[in-house]
Amino acid sequence: MSGNKQQSVLSVDLGGTKTIVAVVLPTGKIISRRYYLTLADEGTRAVLNRLSSAINQSIAQARLKNTELIGIGIAAAGILDTRKGIVATSPNLPGWHNVQLRDVIAARSGLATYLINDASAAALGEHRFGAGRGFDNLLYLTVSTGIGGGIIINGELYSGADGCAGELGHITIEADGPQCHCGNFGCLEAMASGWAISTEAVTRINQGESSSIIELVDSRLENITAETVAAAARGGDQLACDIVTKAANYLGIGLANLVNIFNPELIVIGGGLSKMGNMLLRPARKVIEERAFRLPAQSVRIVRAQLGSNAGIIGAAAYVYDYRVKTGAKV
Ligand SMILES: [Zn+2]
Repeated sequence: MSGNKQQSVLSVDLGGTKTIVAVVLPTGKIISRRYYLTLADEGTRAVLNRLSSAINQSIAQARLKNTELIGIGIAAAGILDTRKGIVATSPNLPGWHNVQLRDVIAARSGLATYLINDASAAALGEHRFGAGRGFDNLLYLTVSTGIGGGIIINGELYSGADGCAGELGHITIEADGPQCHCGNFGCLEAMASGWAISTEAVTRINQGESSSIIELVDSRLENITAETVAAAARGGDQLACDIVTKAANYLGIGLANLVNIFNPELIVIGGGLSKMGNMLLRPARKVIEERAFRLPAQSVRIVRAQLGSNAGIIGAAAYVYDYRVKTGAKV
């Protein structure tokens, strides 16, 4: 096992609610995994301290020496300058502005540390070890409360000039649409995410439309989620079906744009809303066929992600391995 240990990466998925810390082999196999609550409200310093000690504990529990790890890969949500290792802003981490996450963790751990956007990490993870195996040109979209993305071109993660490429949830698809979390209006995230679906349901019920959604949440409209709307739609509720179809159409418009730009072989859809399956994907596929050029629209396949909540940690590890290979650094 010592041979394996020398090839390990300590992988982190720093989420707004929980943080996963894992030890991952080059094969994508997770040899240890634990999680704890991020408690982002306690501020930057507290989150960094908790992360440092969780990393140290994970290394100790896996009985690894620092020399047996080739580095730490941290996946985090937000606009990151991956070249400088800085979190510029993050929707999940209030108060984080230009935090030098990479250098802080590197200094405290004594290990080479790398930072990657969480959806980009998931894209890389699915490409290497999940639904995207064997496909060199693919897009990954995570559709949950928000919408994130990652781009794989010619078998490599495309990261752009500053390392923040792949914000596929923030392409504008409705010029006069509602305001998005990012400040722009009518983003794909504002029209087709779980947040968009639940907001639309609350608005329309408050406007007097009847729906079985109301009973599903015992009239507590603040408890409506995309899952509630999906459940009502499965039961044939008209309002819920309308809302899901509308979101699926917008998702299709976003995907049609991406199909014309990237001509991907595969689009991998992850995140909580991917569980809706064909309820969401069938109308979206139809819109792609209607709007995108025929050749790329016919060749693209749309599939569900396979790695679930492990995509981020597996992809962050793959990112570290890739980086070591690219730079020729000794393992
Ligand atoms: Zn946006």
